[in-house]
Amino acid sequence: MNAQSTRPQEETHHLLKLKYQSVLGGAKNFLKNRTKTKNRSSCSSIRVNWLITCEAECPHCGLRFRGGNHNTEHIHPISLGGTNNNDNRIQLCKNCNNARNSVMQALLGHPPFSKIFPQEWDAVERYLLWSEITIDEGLSSGARFPEVHELFLEARFAGESPVSGPKKAFGRLSTWGVGEEPNYIGNTAALRSAHTKTTTGTISSFLRRKARLFFDRLFDYESPTNTGQTTSSPLREEVVTGQSAVDESKVLPKVTQGEQKSNQELSETEVSILRQKWNDHALNCLAQNDGSFFVGDFWQLVSDERIARGLSWRSFERALGVTHKAAMPSKVRQILEQIGLNFIFEKTENGYLIVEASEEE
Ligand SMILES: [Zn+2]
Repeated sequence: MNAQSTRPQEETHHLLKLKYQSVLGGAKNFLKNRTKTKNRSSCSSIRVNWLITCEAECPHCGLRFRGGNHNTEHIHPISLGGTNNNDNRIQLCKNCNNARNSVMQALLGHPPFSKIFPQEWDAVERYLLWSEITIDEGLSSGARFPEVHELFLEARFAGESPVSGPKKAFGRLSTWGVGEEPNYIGNTAALRSAHTKTTTGTISSFLRRKARLFFDRLFDYESPTNTGQTTSSPLREEVVTGQSAVDESKVLPKVTQGEQKSNQELSETEVSILRQKWNDHALNCLAQNDGSFFVGDFWQLVSDERIARGLSWRSFERALGVTHKAAMPSKVRQILEQIGLNFIFEKTENGYLIVEASEEE
């Protein structure tokens, strides 16, 4: 590749190689010298606590971090010579973290990668550049490396583009400190400013946040240990205001009444039970079928519950917190994310498989 390249894609790749030349050089040396792989280290617990406090979201998919559903991504992978420097680390949801890992394996096989050097260097380079720009410029910028990007969209979103991006994500660990606001470049502007202006924000964005908070609580299956009272016929108002940090009770009832009208036939308790049931079923399937099962089979289960309750799809999905307009694999993805399953999608002749994802390589 040289500077005289005339085709736009080659030109972009050339510029990216310059921008990330230290990453590429480091990887090349690492592979050439067959350097021993370092141990990876995760984000500190103080930082993790701050992310949870901020209701931080995954920079790729916008999934809110809670419990153990997130992981520290090494942007330049350790297995390709990356370091544990804050500059090389970012917190992602486990599913995105796993999908990135599966993309690397699809392209390069299993480590140690010194065995494919130098013959597969082009693939290594494309993966590294894709990996860096999807963090620095947002996930959609990965389309500049279509062969890599499609593998990611396949594994994470069953080939679709994500419905919405993050609003409250944090960038590389080196770019923020505890006590600071979400700073990710790919955050959607509207909610990012609403976050900093809680009291002066517009009513509509305020209500949206409240509604969102409500759904977040509704689906927080890893409830704190002190929520015993929520099992005894909880009123929605109590659940929301009882745990809300800010007292905005005057506005709250408008939201909750609306919610009650639309999904009065499916209580929070029922939703919790369903989620537990699907979680058990998914884990069973994974255990029995070599760690995978079909999207269609899982959705059948969801569908059966709706029919058994005589609910319309719209109200059923609304109660579950699933986007009604979303396409099929996306709805399944949303439910699997809510029940906290650690998965990626795998395309087969017979449809998409839900595959249990292994932790980073
Ligand atoms: Zn994610």
